[in-house]
Amino acid sequence: MAADRLDGRAVSDAIAARVATRLLELPTAPKLVFVRVGEDPASVYYVRSKQRLAERVGLRAETRVLADDTDQAALEAMVRELNDDDDVDGILVQLPLPDHLDERPVLEAIDPDKDVDGFHPVNVGRLWSGLDGLVPCTPLGLIAILDHYEISLHGARVVIVGRSNLVGKPVAALCLRRHATVTLAHSRTRDLAGVVREADVVIAAVGRAGIVTADMVRTGATVLDVGMTRVDGKIVGDVAPDVWDVAGALTPMPGGTGLATVAMVIQNTLTAAEKRRGWA
Ligand code: NAP
Repeated sequence: MAADRLDGRAVSDAIAARVATRLLELPTAPKLVFVRVGEDPASVYYVRSKQRLAERVGLRAETRVLADDTDQAALEAMVRELNDDDDVDGILVQLPLPDHLDERPVLEAIDPDKDVDGFHPVNVGRLWSGLDGLVPCTPLGLIAILDHYEISLHGARVVIVGRSNLVGKPVAALCLRRHATVTLAHSRTRDLAGVVREADVVIAAVGRAGIVTADMVRTGATVLDVGMTRVDGKIVGDVAPDVWDVAGALTPMPGGTGLATVAMVIQNTLTAAEKRRGWA
């Protein structure tokens, strides 16, 4: 048996089409501003792809680039300036920041209503309290993939491997909202294979190439591969290739969860603008 391929490109295209259609109904195109510090090649690449997609759907998007040696005060001042600019709907500070900068105060400086990455503690609290807010893009993208392929979480057992603030914890909250029974596994989990084998839906967000192997996956389970590791110049997921033989559905890597993540940046910008400008 070969698992169905959960195509991130198809999901991204569907979201982009929906956002583009909605933008046509709005009086102004919402504006998204990326803040990038330094020239880290991965950050340059990610910001460029997000900006391209934003412009393709009809958002206004710009990138502010700060020098590698920018200090904390200057970065936070830029965030405050964007908070105060009524024309700006979304702010995304690309992570990771250079080592001399402290991420936390920067993320906390962003106006929660413009926080399209959804990392501000106010948005984290809203998510866990079941309130409307902005939700981190990777978890939202995972749910968008399941929705696109009509895979229901209602009553399903979901095992998430990885408990980061970026992926594991927020996707757990979203799965709970969808009435799944959720287990968060991590580096101290006893019998990881046994825990994962219980799952109807496995979400692998570790960052260790091939850590989820076929013997850990129940026949027919849905598997979402989030982890990305560079091996011999290629991007490899957390899910080993032999899982294609047992899973019912699986995201490819690349071509899966990463594309859905990028698409959620534009969706979150639309959501932020609709709420802030009273267009919802
Ligand atoms: P992270 O903060 O390093 O978290 C990794 C998690 O994996 C931690 O909770 C850690 O457990 C757990 N872990 C580590 N070794 C383990 C093991 N042997 N068994 C079970 N769990 C283990 O990473 P992250 O920011 O969440 O990112 C995870 C991966 O996703 C990375 O490869 C990243 O590049 C990728 N990513 C992909 C996308 C996408 O769109 N596809 C988006 C974001 C991130 P402890 O908490 O116990 O340390």
